[in-house]
Amino acid sequence: MTDISLSLDINRLKRTKAGKQQKQEAIDREMVIIGAGPAGLSAGLYGARAMLKPLILVGPALGGQAATTDEMENYPGFPDGIGGLDLAEQMSLQARQFGAEIAYEEVTSVDLSAYPFVLKTHGPLIRARSMIICTGTSPRQLGIPGEKEFWGRGVSTCATCDGFFYRDKTVVVVGGGDSALDEGIFLTRFAEEVIVVHRRDRLRAGPTLVARANSNSKIRFVWNTVLDEIVGDQSVKRVRGHDVKTGESLDISCDGVFIYVGLIPNTQLFRDQLELDKDGYIVTDKRQRTSVEGVFAAGDVQDPWFRQVVIAAGSGAAAAIEAERFLSEKAFEEQQQQVAD
Ligand code: NAP
Repeated sequence: MTDISLSLDINRLKRTKAGKQQKQEAIDREMVIIGAGPAGLSAGLYGARAMLKPLILVGPALGGQAATTDEMENYPGFPDGIGGLDLAEQMSLQARQFGAEIAYEEVTSVDLSAYPFVLKTHGPLIRARSMIICTGTSPRQLGIPGEKEFWGRGVSTCATCDGFFYRDKTVVVVGGGDSALDEGIFLTRFAEEVIVVHRRDRLRAGPTLVARANSNSKIRFVWNTVLDEIVGDQSVKRVRGHDVKTGESLDISCDGVFIYVGLIPNTQLFRDQLELDKDGYIVTDKRQRTSVEGVFAAGDVQDPWFRQVVIAAGSGAAAAIEAERFLSEKAFEEQQQQVAD
């Protein structure tokens, strides 16, 4: 893995032996980017090339959802495909080469009514003159008995991370979209059988993945079925479900369950401060502007339609260009005000 330098002032903060901060220092930045998936890292690259020394706050993990994809075949410029984490590392390196700073700090709250905007983290307080939100999405859960109990010991949403544990075993994949098929196909590298359980009799996934899944002898489909429970003792032993058309119940013996039933936007921090749509996605205009001037959003957190890495990267670049314009205009206005005073 590429080494990520933490040159930021954040890491020079003194902490007590108990790990508590002695004094909350404040950092002032022209551009703060929350999230380091393809959108955040592209915004960082563009912000850095505009000499804004952007600060990218990584949060849970570098690369976002894309980093959990084993092989990406549709990111332009890589005819042989590229791993999601590999791509994130290359993007991070490129952004840092131009002066972006990356910090593994989680944002705990934001105040968008103040200007500069205020971000609280477990470390320092950050004041940002412009902000780009690239917090992406998280996998939706089924909310059935057994899901929480077996999380991390038989239930997963990341085949790249956990597939290895299912060598010669049987796994159930839930969902009928691109993620379910993509990850299901990946799981056939390890598992003896991959059973895709879908609530309808038609897949939502695109034709390329459908064709690949159909031609894979390790994949079997169970149609019109939803799961009601994940059952086991120390580990998962089977799933219980029912046919939505006939009502008939069924039991499938398996060693693991991989859930791909869609994504939910990570916008909890911005609720009541930014305009969100009915599903919680941030509303942006064509120039990545949100309902608060100086706050931009890019990537999946504002995109319920495409959710593609190449589109996230493009919107991140657009957001940084717009943020730079906003900052220039703001600086000009402030200068004019000073002259007038
Ligand atoms: P998605 O497209 O929203 O599909 C979610 C699937 O889960 C659907 O088949 C849906 O069924 C099913 N589902 C939803 N709620 C359910 C529930 N409560 N119980 C059972 N099934 C449920 O999500 P995704 O597959 O994660 O894809 C997200 C985005 O990433 C998409 O835009 C996709 O194109 C993109 N992506 C692309 C690739 C690629 O290789 N190009 C790979 C991965 C993801 P219905 O079909 O009945 O609604």
